[in-house]
Amino acid sequence: MADPTDKVRRGVRERDGERCVACGTMWAITFQHRRAVGMGGSKERPGYADGLAACADCNARFEGNMQTLALLNGWKVRRWVQDPSRVPYFHVATGRWYALAADGPWRREISRAEAVRMMNDVYAPDPRGPEAVAA
Ligand SMILES: [Zn+2]
Repeated sequence: MADPTDKVRRGVRERDGERCVACGTMWAITFQHRRAVGMGGSKERPGYADGLAACADCNARFEGNMQTLALLNGWKVRRWVQDPSRVPYFHVATGRWYALAADGPWRREISRAEAVRMMNDVYAPDPRGPEAVAA
């Protein structure tokens, strides 16, 4: 995956309140690629939902000993997820869950229940369909 444009980089940073999503610091904020950057060198540029604001320390740890935590909080998204805006994320500084827009630097606060529902839709869809889940 190519680098994000300056516009996307700036938009993601501002959307996330200039704070690391995982520890809340304002120091050394980087563009965190939610999907692992592939080896193939895709020319696709990351969009708004592909990135989060994360400090350099947390960004590095997401690939290491924080990987499971990062997936559970939506800081990382499985590589095969086509549309990362389907995966919400938790922001430690606000203590809230957010759904991301794919087409702009916006986020919408959602309930924890909605976050769980969104995560399940992506990672553990019920084979009986959405009606069975609602019942
Ligand atoms: Zn951090």
